[in-house]
Amino acid sequence: MSDAPVVRRVIQRVGVIGAGQMGNGIAHVCAAAGLDVVMLDVKADALARAMATIGRNMDRQVTKGTLSAEAKDAALGRIVTTSDYAGFGDCDLVIEAATEKEELKRSIFKTLVPHLNATAMIASNTSSISITRLAAGTDRPERFIGMHFMNPGPVMKLVEIIRGIATDEPTFQATMALAATLGKTTAVAEDFPGFIVNRILVPMINEAVYAVYEGVGTIASIDTGLRLGANHPMGPLELADFIGLDTCLSIMQVLHDGLSDSKYRPCPLLVKYVEAGWFGRKTGRGFYDYTVTPPKPTR
Ligand code: NAD
Repeated sequence: MSDAPVVRRVIQRVGVIGAGQMGNGIAHVCAAAGLDVVMLDVKADALARAMATIGRNMDRQVTKGTLSAEAKDAALGRIVTTSDYAGFGDCDLVIEAATEKEELKRSIFKTLVPHLNATAMIASNTSSISITRLAAGTDRPERFIGMHFMNPGPVMKLVEIIRGIATDEPTFQATMALAATLGKTTAVAEDFPGFIVNRILVPMINEAVYAVYEGVGTIASIDTGLRLGANHPMGPLELADFIGLDTCLSIMQVLHDGLSDSKYRPCPLLVKYVEAGWFGRKTGRGFYDYTVTPPKPTR
């Protein structure tokens, strides 16, 4: 590494790709911290839904007194939605938060890079996919980094920062500074499958699905067991529904493929739920049925 002083890169305009549960949360925290945001999704209705969700979540902050009504209006006014990658031309950083599929993310980056200015950085919010491999598919692996926000983005305090093998120091420093501006605490992880949080968390969820599959306990007893027995705020199956079962399965597949260890094999019951389109809260059904109140266990 050279001894040259690290040039500070200031991030003022942020792009967000994918307006799902994570994308809208990232846009929310960036806009609330005074940054300009451009948000893109392939689905126009996802953009409209995301803006409505951000508005609702900011209203909740106004009610709690953590955001003023004026700051809310100003923050919403800083978010622009688009379906055109040309909108990222002035961005200092683009954060990708689209569906957890490597091929899809690679094609997004291929479309994105011709529209970026030469100094722009790219971050992926991937839960598990190799940052080094994603970076290698772009024209700027040294300006590419993992910025893993937790769900829900506006509430959770942590951002995991993952440096790919080629990530340069100014990109790392700029990302750490951005996380601080957003009021987040960082944990720096090496670029191995699942990084830190999901390497530990998602195998626990997968084990809970095995416990249902093998009849060790019901969904309700497993969640109660971990909530009260291990003092977890949510049981592992409630948490799986919250994360999205498609995302959980995808992370297990990355751990299984990337670490080549059978202990990471995805539970067949998790695979079946995903095949059925039962992805959890976001589709109204997962280990619980969310069309009734309170949500009812599905087994
Ligand atoms: P989601 O299903 O809620 O949202 C994904 C969004 O990506 C959808 O709106 C979809 O329309 C959009 N999309 C799909 N293809 C696209 C494309 N080609 N271009 C632009 N947008 C596209 O998923 P999510 O939970 O928000 O997850 C997004 C990313 O964040 C994933 O990489 C996931 O692993 C990661 N993540 C998820 C969690 C979690 O708890 N859900 C936590 C941290 C990180």
